[in-house]
Amino acid sequence: MGRYSRQLRAAALAAAVLAGAFALAWAACPFPAAKLATYPEATVLLDREGRALRVRLGEDDSDCRPHFEPRADDWISRAIIAVEDRRFRSHPGVDPVAILRAAADNLRHGRVRSGASTISTQVVRLLEPRPRTLATKIVEAFRALQMERILGKDAILAQYLNRAPFGGNAVGVESASRRYFGKSAHDLSLAEAALLAGLPQSPTRLRPDRHPERARRRQAHVLERMEACGVIDGAQRAAALAQPLAIRPAAYPFRAPHFAELALEAAPGGGTRRTTLDPVLQGAVESALRRHAAPLAAAGIHGAAAVVIEVRTGAVRALAGSPDYGDADHAGQVNGAAAPRSAGSTLKPFAFALAIDQGRLTPGRVLADVPRSYAGLDPRNFDDEWMGLVSARDALVLSLNLPALGVAAETGVDPLLRMLRTAGLGTLDRDAAHYGLGLVLGNGSVTLLDLANAYAAIARGGEWRPCRWFENAPPGAARRVMSAEAAWMIVDMLGGEERSVDTVRHTADARMPRMAWKTGTSSGFRDAWAVAINPEVAIGVWCGRPDGRGAPQLVGAKSAVPVVWEIFRGLYPANDGPWFARPAGVRERRVCAVSGMAPGPCCGATAADWSVPGVTRHEVCAVHRRVTADGPGGVARSDVREVWPPEVQAFLDRSREVAARAPADTAAPRNPVRIVSPVAGSVFRRLGGPAERIPLAATAESGAQLWWFVDDRLLASVRAGEPLLWDLEPGRHVVVCSDASGRSDRAPITVE
Ligand SMILES: [Zn+2]
Repeated sequence: MGRYSRQLRAAALAAAVLAGAFALAWAACPFPAAKLATYPEATVLLDREGRALRVRLGEDDSDCRPHFEPRADDWISRAIIAVEDRRFRSHPGVDPVAILRAAADNLRHGRVRSGASTISTQVVRLLEPRPRTLATKIVEAFRALQMERILGKDAILAQYLNRAPFGGNAVGVESASRRYFGKSAHDLSLAEAALLAGLPQSPTRLRPDRHPERARRRQAHVLERMEACGVIDGAQRAAALAQPLAIRPAAYPFRAPHFAELALEAAPGGGTRRTTLDPVLQGAVESALRRHAAPLAAAGIHGAAAVVIEVRTGAVRALAGSPDYGDADHAGQVNGAAAPRSAGSTLKPFAFALAIDQGRLTPGRVLADVPRSYAGLDPRNFDDEWMGLVSARDALVLSLNLPALGVAAETGVDPLLRMLRTAGLGTLDRDAAHYGLGLVLGNGSVTLLDLANAYAAIARGGEWRPCRWFENAPPGAARRVMSAEAAWMIVDMLGGEERSVDTVRHTADARMPRMAWKTGTSSGFRDAWAVAINPEVAIGVWCGRPDGRGAPQLVGAKSAVPVVWEIFRGLYPANDGPWFARPAGVRERRVCAVSGMAPGPCCGATAADWSVPGVTRHEVCAVHRRVTADGPGGVARSDVREVWPPEVQAFLDRSREVAARAPADTAAPRNPVRIVSPVAGSVFRRLGGPAERIPLAATAESGAQLWWFVDDRLLASVRAGEPLLWDLEPGRHVVVCSDASGRSDRAPITVE
């Protein structure tokens, strides 16, 4: 009696200790629930219509799509339960019946022949892989019991179906189903589900695309288990066995590769995400790029890129970074839409907009396009001709460098740089001193994508938004780049009705919906740009060599514009594009027809211009002045005269002089050296201010070396045709120009 009670007590004590230890372990080692949410998830990008664009594999190149939710009636769930754990729905995480059976089985054979794994313990093993020992089995059983207290049966089954290996890099049933059968796991037939359900036990050996016979034998076993469990009947099993299975691993989708790369950069997490890409437009953009790239390729230019951004949302609707991604010989994989390149003239509209917002500029204001020197710059115009006096509108449309430099000098480089960065041009990352006024001529680098999005801001009435890559992404924070009034004046200037036939000389098809557009060519003919906007889209095109070398064919108007036009025409086949409404803040006003400034009492004709009341400065025309001078017979006379800054006056005088004596030159003596600026006998009036200069220019034999003297002092030696400027000094001077043969011309002048 005493002996039994001692034994009983000892057993009870042992049980109590075990129970205590179990309770302690349960409390001290909580289930690692955080791991339940971590998958080596792949990222699947879809176009905006839901078709797959690109798959980015997860950790270790796993293809895991962990969003399969088992349903009671799907074949794969029933097949997995039948073959792996038939009492799954009723056991508490471990299966006592299976343990007893396995123990008996192992005893009979004297070695470990079968385990008693449940779906739950297998989930634990997938979450925390451990060496396969008896101790591991105990830990896994313990964890399975814990997990069953946290998760329901369906959630545990989902964990299993989303984590189990299915051969190759397929992790989880959804990616396996898409990989082997090209469909979602919810759409699997009985035969297909039975085949997949057999794989996790030995995914490499049974992999159906490599070992179809083994996989089919395993499928037959799964179907047998399903019939044994009463999930299917014999007829269903026979039908499933008879169903031929087409196992053809589909290649991963690989469309719009440069777009996909940028979208993946913008999407750090995994999952299936619907992008903003419009597949039809993307196709049109790719084919336009390919077609126009062919003639350029003949000239050794293999880089070209195009971007289309929807103005309202900032959505990137199409993007191609090269004409042929697969062309490895010509760096086809380099994304030309994301590569920083010299901006050329494409930033000029921003400088003009800034000057408008500062009240300094209106489209009608007259700017001087005459030789002037700005520190360290040789700002010749693209076609090396000076226009003299031009309106801001013409200066922007014709992309004249001198007027743009003048505008940037007025706005200041710092404010201009700040504005360009506000417009998202983040690659302009040096300080203002680095760029200097050359910023407005495009000596900084921008990417096509950023540039197109900056123009989208103009089209949006001056408000910048980050590019959108995903349909359901919240819109990014907006920033104001310029006023709505300035934005409208820019599109009004760049979108004049006459523009479709002017600078690009493409008259073949002038039937185009209205658009505002700007071209650019970087120095050395390295990059050709064209950007076009209307209220709905911003289109940007870049052409160049991926290695950044120059080529004479790389002129924005010639190589990039035709691509923009083709895309634009494709978007509006009926030639019925929308146009911008003039903001109420922009009013019409009359200006002096000569200076473009508010008319004063001495001005003659006036012209129509735009202004923003309260912003635009009311500067009265300073050109038309009443000048009192001694007339014939010593009688004082009062005349209205045009008074221009000296460099402008000098240019105007020279132009008149050259025009006046052109016929005489044909009969002129042999001396080819003739000073055309300054004109002999000119009187220059200094208007005050630092460094007023006049150009020195002479006709001479082409390319001749010329020596310039002022008052017998050598000023400089330049080649004929090269600009040379001289700082005005008060007094009477003699300007002499001489060539290498000693032939020379002289021009006495006076500076007051
Ligand atoms: Zn005037």
